[in-house]
Amino acid sequence: MKDKIFFDNNSTTKVDNKIIEEMVEIMKLPLNSSSIHSHGRLAMRKLNNARNQIKKLLNGDNYDVIFTSGATESNNLALLGGKKLPIITSQIEHPAIVNVAKQVEHYFVKTSKQGLTDIEDLKNIISKLNGKEFICSIMFAHNETGAIFPIKEIAKITHQNGGIFHCDLTQAVGKLPLDIENLNIDLASLSAHKLNGPQGAGALLIRKGIKIGQILYGSGQENGKRPGTNNIAGAVGLGKACEISKEKIPQYKELQKLRDYFEESLKRIANDDVVIFCKDIKRTPNTSFVAMRGVDNQTQLIDFDLNGFSIAIGSACSSGSSKTSIILSEMGINDSLAKNVIRVSFATDNTKEEIDKFIKIWKNLYQKIKK
Ligand code: PMP
Repeated sequence: MKDKIFFDNNSTTKVDNKIIEEMVEIMKLPLNSSSIHSHGRLAMRKLNNARNQIKKLLNGDNYDVIFTSGATESNNLALLGGKKLPIITSQIEHPAIVNVAKQVEHYFVKTSKQGLTDIEDLKNIISKLNGKEFICSIMFAHNETGAIFPIKEIAKITHQNGGIFHCDLTQAVGKLPLDIENLNIDLASLSAHKLNGPQGAGALLIRKGIKIGQILYGSGQENGKRPGTNNIAGAVGLGKACEISKEKIPQYKELQKLRDYFEESLKRIANDDVVIFCKDIKRTPNTSFVAMRGVDNQTQLIDFDLNGFSIAIGSACSSGSSKTSIILSEMGINDSLAKNVIRVSFATDNTKEEIDKFIKIWKNLYQKIKK
């Protein structure tokens, strides 16, 4: 895979060498945090250190950190671990929210043409609940478009109406500075592998005072909220990924310039045949959700793959199918254009040379098809 270039970093990321080193040291030891002997106590210290690294990145001193197997589990725990409250969310959330909501009473908020939460519709849904307790779950940044949602405003509306606010931070952690206390988030999910940490490790942050029980039953780990022997190496990897993120966030600012250069270059080649989604709103700095008008996205994916580039058609969860992205239909984009859209998501170690090479391949494909 050495000669392959990975432009699909919203699906997963390469584990940072410093993280691998720390995890390997941990894996050499028999560490079970439930034991009270010295190995067990070391395991607990490692877990608690990782908790502190996560809290430090997100300003989470006022929160408990529960380790999970990733954001899917964190989202399940957040939405189903407490009282079974009605869930207000939207169809454009990750399936690890949409399909969880479908298990209980739920309401999907409409999406605006821009690809954001329709705030008026949110208010309407809340008012129809007639003062009933509820939980509202809206992600910080969209996995396909990169669009950043007005979380502070949504949290405020939720709280003014007596609800609990959950935010799936998965696509934003490590890319953008986040302060969950200031944003007024009650419950926050994250996954280590989106920020150069290991797969199969994540966390749910629970604001002190918010009552969350459990969805799995077993022993008493993680305060009874997540039974099962802890994945110490995974938690350490997640903690380290959060620590390293402090250095990475400024690098993402630089990456945004490359992303913008990439989009401008495509526009220069093909003008109106290039459609960049959510371009005029705040987005994550590494993401481009872009259509080559008239060129099927499967054709694009195969052509880029044959030329050494891994990109995505929509999110990883739907890229195996020929379905178009829900976000595009929710934004009112017609099917024929939706079928032309690819997602390019960069990492901080991608270079301008790689991007230039990709632009060349893009141009060749465009010119070949348009002839
Ligand atoms: N939420 C969002 C926004 C995501 O992008 C993802 C990963 N695609 C998840 C949740 C689920 O994360 P994981 O697969 O690590 O459980």
